[in-house]
Amino acid sequence: MADEKRMSLSEAARLQWRAIREIHRLDPQYLPSRVCAKIAAAVTPYALIWFSAQLLNELSGARRVDALRHWAALAVAAGGLLALLNALLARWTSVHETIYWDRYRTLYIDKQFSMDFADVDKQSTRDLKAQIQQSENWAGWGFGHVSRVLAETVGGVAGILGASALTAGLFLAKVPAGAGKMQIMNSPLFILAQLGLMVLVSVLSGRLDGYVDALEAGMVDKARSGNRFFTYFCSFGRGRGTLDVRMYDQSRLLERFFVSSMDQGFGVNGPFAKLARGRGGVCRGFAGGLSAVFTGSIYAFTCLKALAGAFGVGSVTQYVGAATAFSQHLTALFSALSEMRTNGKFLARCYEYLDIPNAMYQGSLTTEKRNDREYNVEFRDVSFRYPGTDTWALRHVNVKFKVGSRMAIVGENGSGKTTFIKLLCRLYDPQEGEILLNGINIKKYNYRDYMDVFSVVFQDFQLLSQPLGDNVAGSRKYDEARAAKALCDAGFAERLETMPNGLRTMLYRGYDDTGVEVSGGEAQKIAIARALYRDAPFLILDEPTAALDPIAEAEIYAQLNQIVGDRTAIYISHRLSSCRFCDEIMVFDHGQIIQTGSHDELARREDGKYYALWHAQAQYYAKK
Ligand code: ADP
Repeated sequence: MADEKRMSLSEAARLQWRAIREIHRLDPQYLPSRVCAKIAAAVTPYALIWFSAQLLNELSGARRVDALRHWAALAVAAGGLLALLNALLARWTSVHETIYWDRYRTLYIDKQFSMDFADVDKQSTRDLKAQIQQSENWAGWGFGHVSRVLAETVGGVAGILGASALTAGLFLAKVPAGAGKMQIMNSPLFILAQLGLMVLVSVLSGRLDGYVDALEAGMVDKARSGNRFFTYFCSFGRGRGTLDVRMYDQSRLLERFFVSSMDQGFGVNGPFAKLARGRGGVCRGFAGGLSAVFTGSIYAFTCLKALAGAFGVGSVTQYVGAATAFSQHLTALFSALSEMRTNGKFLARCYEYLDIPNAMYQGSLTTEKRNDREYNVEFRDVSFRYPGTDTWALRHVNVKFKVGSRMAIVGENGSGKTTFIKLLCRLYDPQEGEILLNGINIKKYNYRDYMDVFSVVFQDFQLLSQPLGDNVAGSRKYDEARAAKALCDAGFAERLETMPNGLRTMLYRGYDDTGVEVSGGEAQKIAIARALYRDAPFLILDEPTAALDPIAEAEIYAQLNQIVGDRTAIYISHRLSSCRFCDEIMVFDHGQIIQTGSHDELARREDGKYYALWHAQAQYYAKK
């Protein structure tokens, strides 16, 4: 990112505007609250400066007690009211900041779930999402800076306007005749030069700040690896790793690793520290120095004019205060514009992700709801390659499922079994051939409708840290009797008895200390129950018993015929012994179906792959 060209201001402004509309859509009150709070904070000091000036003028002038009382009362009242207004606006902002950030997260969650699975699954998509998240966590780059830039810009303009109104007198008030050489301060050229200096110093200071921000932002890759090390070391002490560190006395090794990794990130010898000691520090120091010189010159100019008799002592405070504020706001304005430009690249990344198109054709046909579950599925010469790869994961696959049958898919690792299921569930579309449901290409069906035909238990299924029943039903409202039956059918009956709150027992301790930690095998049974509860015509189990102990596995298989009922069932299994009860077995090899038939038929063909697999496993068990 450091080497990329800086984005043009107009392109950055376009992205900023787009993000502003997005934020406004998520919470229409968030940006107004921030902008109002910033305007109030910008103009509040002016009211106080102005009242102080009136008081000082009166003190150094006529010293009328009534007038002093009047100004003091007004100053206190204005100060109190403005403090109250600022507090109310801060509260408004803080409430909507929380609301907005909660909704903002849904932007990415919605995208994640609406995106084609093929894109979700791509490494490049995962990398992009990680980059967005890391830049955001690091310094709020991306959407985090949009509201800041907007508030700083509007607040800056309001501050400049307020300061201009209060500073006008500094330039307009004339040094009276008889002030000798000091009258030069009345010259328009002198005034223009002083004004020009003010603007130049402020703009330069803002640009310098923006320049250093851009330098830091250009080191995003280093920040990313720095944060990764940081997170690794911060979480290390909490994990099981500490045990190994003690056992093998690895603390010194770890310390060295920590020091060397910090030197690549946020350590004292790291790139950020080097920037702070070098160019970045010099620029920031120079910007601070310029501001100090500016304040000094304003003091000198104002005091000399007061000395020459152009205005009273009270006005000195007003002009110095307002002119300094003018400079600060101008600096902030230019710094905000630089920030917007730097942030443009980060916003572009956010939109690169949010704009990933849904390329999969979304059909409109509804699947007919058939009570007889007569859903015929056919793979017709299907070939598929994962995006970004050149090898075929499936090649010329032809198969027809018999309704109500039990089919097993076997084959070595990487032979294409899971890919076959992923295509069946339309997580990907094949590049060649077609998959038909009741004679119609599955692309033509409405996706949600089509998915209702399948219940799948994937190998890497996920349960939620939510009540057991909600997990089974996939919903808060559900039929308790059916959920309990599904759990019993999946072999969870005994464990259900011991659950402290039955179906309402919270799973895991993610959110609730009373949650129950279930074992891998128990979780697998719950996942099977979830598939049964859905009661879809097709039941697909990918390695359904991998996490179960041999007894539980035998129980499940003994019951499977009964559990499956009139559904069409497809099992992917490594344990060939578990396929014996299936009507048909498909043997996958290098993405192709090389054999089909019943167990008895296939086990007899000595030259076949199934025979080899079967005997390899039988041998393995025999040795054990
Ligand atoms: P199995 O389920 O039989 O173990 P898979 O269907 O998972 O095999 O994999 C088939 C082939 O596709 C393998 O060569 C595997 O490396 C490849 N593959 C699987 N998933 C992906 C993916 N997301 N991206 C790229 N290649 C993949």
